[in-house]
Amino acid sequence: MKFVITPSFSEIPEEWPSIVIGAGPAGLTAAYVLAREGLKPLVLEASPWIGGISRTHEWEGNRIDIGGHRFFTKSVLVQELWGEMMDEPMLKVPRLSRIFYRGKFYQYPLKILNTVGNLGVVESVRMLMSYVKARVFPVRPEESFEDWVRNRFGDRLYRTFFKTYTEKVWGIPCTEIRADWAAQRIHGLSFVSAVMNALRNSGNVKSLITTFDYPRLGPGMLWESAAGKVVEMGGAVVTGARVVKVEHEGGRVSAVEVESGGEVRRVRCGQVISSMPLSVLVRQLVPGPPEAVREAAAGLRYRDFLIVALRCRRADVFPDNWIYIHAAEVRVGRIQNFRNWSAEMIAEGGGTTLGMEYFCSRGDDLWEMRDEDLVAQARREIVSLGLAEEGDIGEEGHVIRELNAYPVYDAEYRAHVTTLSEWFGGCATLQTVGRNGMHRYNNQDHSMLAGYYAAMRQLGRPGEDPWEVNTERSYHEEQVLAERKDTDVTEILASEQTPVE
Ligand SMILES: Cc1cc2nc3c(=O)[nH]c(=O)nc-3n(C[C@H](O)[C@H](O)[C@H](O)COP(=O)(O)OP(=O)(O)OC[C@H]3O[C@@H](n4cnc5c(N)ncnc54)[C@H](O)[C@@H]3O)c2cc1C
Repeated sequence: MKFVITPSFSEIPEEWPSIVIGAGPAGLTAAYVLAREGLKPLVLEASPWIGGISRTHEWEGNRIDIGGHRFFTKSVLVQELWGEMMDEPMLKVPRLSRIFYRGKFYQYPLKILNTVGNLGVVESVRMLMSYVKARVFPVRPEESFEDWVRNRFGDRLYRTFFKTYTEKVWGIPCTEIRADWAAQRIHGLSFVSAVMNALRNSGNVKSLITTFDYPRLGPGMLWESAAGKVVEMGGAVVTGARVVKVEHEGGRVSAVEVESGGEVRRVRCGQVISSMPLSVLVRQLVPGPPEAVREAAAGLRYRDFLIVALRCRRADVFPDNWIYIHAAEVRVGRIQNFRNWSAEMIAEGGGTTLGMEYFCSRGDDLWEMRDEDLVAQARREIVSLGLAEEGDIGEEGHVIRELNAYPVYDAEYRAHVTTLSEWFGGCATLQTVGRNGMHRYNNQDHSMLAGYYAAMRQLGRPGEDPWEVNTERSYHEEQVLAERKDTDVTEILASEQTPVE
């Protein structure tokens, strides 16, 4: 479906009471709710696309997510919104995702027979002994991620299931990641519970069959549909329109300046909901906020991401939706098989599209690599892993780079976010929402909830404080997650996909 953009940039009037910045899940949810309630918001989106990180790209008839996007939520409100925003139900996709390490597939959630079978009895016993050793002689003081995980799982298990993947995701050695990050992300999980889960899984295969929701044309389908509905209800969505200045006076937002192709327009407004990165928003404020707020914003860090799409002649290349690549000898972190998400993601003519995912940081060698070199590397890696043969993979590929894909939870981020949320909390007419808008590991559902509550606030309706979304609640969910049979440590570490998000 093609969404409608109206008006064009040059038609944006000089005044629009309610403005939403960003057409990702947070911004579009806010805009949808405002439009549904009769307010006609103007959505300004910097990129040419709809959906933010949750968009779906097209490449020669193939559709590619920015990393596969599962739809999963515990919120009935979000489920209802999904139902309203799209005119057709989502697919129920069976889930299979395994870990690839040292030439073997480990099923996830771990199953005891598969795990011991892959490791061998001798290595399994060594893992057990290394766990006992870690319990008797723990590392003290426990400072790094490595210390934290080794103390709870033992050195051998840490090296097999935690070290390489975590280092790929974050780009720094596990000795440099703080222990409290692990405590927050892997809260409640231990060696004993992991083994108990694996035992339970092996005994009850039926309970392992899980599915997730997915629009048949990828997540972008939902967001393009939502944008279309905002327009149908009288709002406007303008792409290629980057907000470059946010003016305020007397504690109230007063105007935004927006730029497109060198042309700048100033739009007076009374309300703004922004989903742009907090660090950018603070730089754009006129007048600038106090120094402490500027310093907090400047201290926020991000991890970037790129995906290399490859065409594969064979459709049955592997049965998983995606595979985690723990193998240290390649740089790819995860491989998507988009046919296994939805057959309609694939262009006519058969085969499949693979998404080779790389975690990186702007300016590093991966980020700076030329597209043709990235494609060549991706082709080499999939073949060297033994997952496909050279003749199966097309010569051409497509590279998508995504800045600010992951808000970094470093030692200082929490204090910075507190400073920023307190300052923005004092300005009811300028609300900041979403993943980078709040510097939170939001999945789509949490970003949507923040957008929803910001819209309710603007409408003067009761609702939660958007800053409360994905905080305490997520803590409770982590506890629930830790008890679940399908606890998925790898996903928690990658910080996507799980109810933790
Ligand atoms: C690899 C990966 C896999 C993921 N997998 C899942 C998954 O399986 N399930 C799931 O639910 N979630 C997943 N997520 C998370 C999901 O992508 C995000 O939670 C969601 O897109 C966040 O929505 P948002 O609206 O807060 O932010 P964004 O999606 O980042 O949208 C913000 C929008 O604001 C625009 N913008 C920025 N600055 C400006 C400006 N100055 N002016 C105008 N516009 C601006 C941006 O262009 C963007 O379109 C994944 C994320 C990644 C990186």
